[in-house]
Amino acid sequence: MSEITPAILAQMFRDIAAAMAAAKGELCELDGVIGDADHGIAMDLGFAAVARALDGIDPAASDPSAIFNTAAKSFLNAVGASSGPLYATAFMRAGAAAKGKPVLGDDDVCACFIAMAKGIQDRGKAEPGEKTMIDAWAPAARAMEEARAAGASLPDALDRAVAAAAAGAEATRAMVATKGRSARLGERSLGHMDPGAASAVIMIRSMARALG
Ligand code: ADP
Ligand code: MG
Repeated sequence: MSEITPAILAQMFRDIAAAMAAAKGELCELDGVIGDADHGIAMDLGFAAVARALDGIDPAASDPSAIFNTAAKSFLNAVGASSGPLYATAFMRAGAAAKGKPVLGDDDVCACFIAMAKGIQDRGKAEPGEKTMIDAWAPAARAMEEARAAGASLPDALDRAVAAAAAGAEATRAMVATKGRSARLGERSLGHMDPGAASAVIMIRSMARALG
């Protein structure tokens, strides 16, 4: 049974920020093919802002819900692209799922993760198969839930979520975009991975490393 403290969550966001900074070019390239080439910039700016905001918080005097809510606000303020409100909603929902808890246990982490995926889906109204980040998040959340229900440990469940997200992102190559900017391309979006699904894998992998 793990005990995820506010300090661990803040470190998780710093790890995501470092991973997004490293993937910035690759994510902009993916978005350049089917969008407007700014997705890497958006994710880098957004998580750098989250990391900065969290540097101003004393984790010992905070709680998991406050960490997620700070992340939500700073991400939303920093990101003008459509990923801004989507991830802000995800972090706000995780904050709500963590409300009142001084630390997160295994089931709490699972609930926060599932709340994030649902928040993105509620905010963006994308269904699986529409070539968005939902094609990574929805299978990841399902894998996490099924793994926990089957008695898997949190690290195992997180690993399965990473694998499901990666498979989901790969599968977006064979999808035609019908949501977001790349929907304008129609059939021409075929054959290319969705940038939002690619960054979701990076985020979920960082989460698994930090929380597993
Ligand atoms: P923008 O399209 O405004 O430039 P970004 O480049 O930051 O925003 O993000 C693009 C990604 O956002 C897409 O690859 C897709 O995964 C995701 N996206 C766009 N619209 C939606 C939506 N309605 N629901 C879920 N994800 C979406
Ligand atoms: Mg873009």
